[in-house]
Amino acid sequence: MKKVLTTCGYCGCGCNFYLNINKGEIVGVTPKFDHPVSKGKLCIKGWQGFGFVRHRDRLKKPLIRNAAGEFEEASWEEAYKYVVNKLSNIKEKHGGNSIGFLSSARCTNEENYLLVKLARAVLDSNNIDHCARL
Ligand code: SF4
Repeated sequence: MKKVLTTCGYCGCGCNFYLNINKGEIVGVTPKFDHPVSKGKLCIKGWQGFGFVRHRDRLKKPLIRNAAGEFEEASWEEAYKYVVNKLSNIKEKHGGNSIGFLSSARCTNEENYLLVKLARAVLDSNNIDHCARL
């Protein structure tokens, strides 16, 4: 069995653990006892919350709404271009502060930091918040 060190994606605490991998499937979790945050202790989400990885409803490709209002699969390249075009047009027409960003408790601190940089430094928006405050 292979063990892969990772950061828990459920909240901003940043606990670390090893995912136990057997034949390409996650079969369990082993705590990392010397991690400065978790010190070998995890909440139930860290211990058991990996079922979503192979859930049949999980989105695996970007979806873009077509003219009829239905979602269509797109490539990552198409999705990035779509987002860049939309946000650039909104910023140009209405200013950066017309755009708002909502980050996620399931992102790491580093990912949340990057979204702040995107909002403030790239799109000139101070409208950024986090779902944990809702
Ligand atoms: S194990 Fe629990 S407390 Fe630790 S990061 Fe995951 S969700 Fe948060």
